[in-house]
Amino acid sequence: MSVIVKNLTYIYDEGMPFASKALDDISFEIKDNDFVGLIGHTGSGKSTLIQHLNGLLKPSSGQILVNGFDITDKDLNLTEIRKRVGIVFQYPEYQLFEETVEKDIAFGPGNLGLDEAEISDRVKKSMEAVGLDYETYKDKSPFDLSGGQKRRVAIAGVIAMNPEVLILDEPTAGLDPGGRDEIFNLIKKLHRDNNITIILSSHSMDDMAKLAQTIIVMNHGKIEFMGTPRE
Ligand code: ATP
Ligand code: MG
Repeated sequence: MSVIVKNLTYIYDEGMPFASKALDDISFEIKDNDFVGLIGHTGSGKSTLIQHLNGLLKPSSGQILVNGFDITDKDLNLTEIRKRVGIVFQYPEYQLFEETVEKDIAFGPGNLGLDEAEISDRVKKSMEAVGLDYETYKDKSPFDLSGGQKRRVAIAGVIAMNPEVLILDEPTAGLDPGGRDEIFNLIKKLHRDNNITIILSSHSMDDMAKLAQTIIVMNHGKIEFMGTPRE
């Protein structure tokens, strides 16, 4: 079992008159190496769930285990979560900030206490994995790249952490159809070539039916359905 979510509840502004329950006693299990499509209307709780899976939010109650490791432990260092769970946010180009592509991708692994050779090796491998030629792109400014290329850099930065679980929150938002297919094909390839669990959020059931092995449908903070795309 790679991801186990047990009775997860989250209330924004808990204890305040305007408190709102965004996750309502959610439980599910995702198998190792699965490809999960997370679908739901706006406001259904997808991003709130994703932020819990990455340790950005701590549950009001409940627990999340990633390969047996409790990532909801309140004393846990965020780096311990980042090593296991990588996240590519919606519009990840806003996460790019270093002056070169190489430095941007090296930033995450640079916090893991690895030696220079290992960091450099990870940068090269992850650029290759996302289809960016190392020599061509390493010294370019991330700001000078196309939308699709920027997303590749952001994805490479997360892959370079060697996560067990990769989460992408609407990774194709705002891209044209060509750019969308490119990113979807890349994610499919990453899943095929690596032993990695993928969780991809989207508004589009059509896209998810083509990509995912398991679909989770959220509605008003609850899991309305979990099963295969065919079901
Ligand atoms: P979208 O598809 O629009 O991205 P979503 O499924 O990701 O939607 P969430 O962002 O998780 O939905 O929101 C779930 C619920 O929590 C909504 O009712 C929303 O209004 C509420 N919510 C989200 N963020 C906050 C916040 N920072 N403070 C208070 N309530 C919030
Ligand atoms: Mg969202």
